[in-house]
Amino acid sequence: RSKTDDKRVLVIGLGRFGSSLALELVAHDWEVLGMDSSPRLVQTYADSLTHTVVADATDEEALRQVDAQDFNRAVVAIGTHLEESILATSLLVDMGVPHIWAKAISRRHGRILQQVGAHHVVLPEHDMGERVAHLLSGRMLDYVEIEEGFALGKTRAPNALIGRRLGDTRVRARYGITVVSIKRHGEEFTYATEDTVPQKGDVIVVAGRTSHVERFAEVT
Ligand code: ADP
Repeated sequence: RSKTDDKRVLVIGLGRFGSSLALELVAHDWEVLGMDSSPRLVQTYADSLTHTVVADATDEEALRQVDAQDFNRAVVAIGTHLEESILATSLLVDMGVPHIWAKAISRRHGRILQQVGAHHVVLPEHDMGERVAHLLSGRMLDYVEIEEGFALGKTRAPNALIGRRLGDTRVRARYGITVVSIKRHGEEFTYATEDTVPQKGDVIVVAGRTSHVERFAEVT
């Protein structure tokens, strides 16, 4: 199989993050090789992952033994041990793995991983902390920042929109957001159009600049 269309991934570190990621991929028919230096953890996931191996990812020879260089994608899910995380990432970069995802525990850690050559850096604790802050402090039912400065927010349709065609409310001009989807009580989400008329209790998903989405969630 060619390197570009395969559904194979090497997951290094089977802690909470790595194991959740690996199991989710297996559930979506990916072939996952899970690697951890802890025999106990590897034992735990031996039956649920496609392949597992007890190995130290900072040992180039160990990586070569599992043909890490032949993987199109790899995830470095080592969080707390900075040195190990950085070393493992840098070895995968040297081996030419084209898509390396690395988990960081802080922005500084993330910056180093990027400098070492990781293609994608994720900060799960940091991102989730920010997200919960938005849910806790406002009326938002759900919130996700797509990239720095742009977000999607799920909220109940405010009174300002109830019973009026979205096209007539001028939400874009007034609040700087776009209503992308709407969910009526007991129904599924569907896309919103200019002719959509939100009713009381409807839930909507809006997109826009983070500050606009935040402000819109305060509108009553
Ligand atoms: P989480 O917060 O997701 O549980 P941890 O940092 O606690 O993340 O766990 C990361 C995992 O990575 C641990 O199971 C640890 O054994 C593993 N690990 C750490 N260093 C290495 C290494 N050099 N090679 C392989 N696995 C490692």
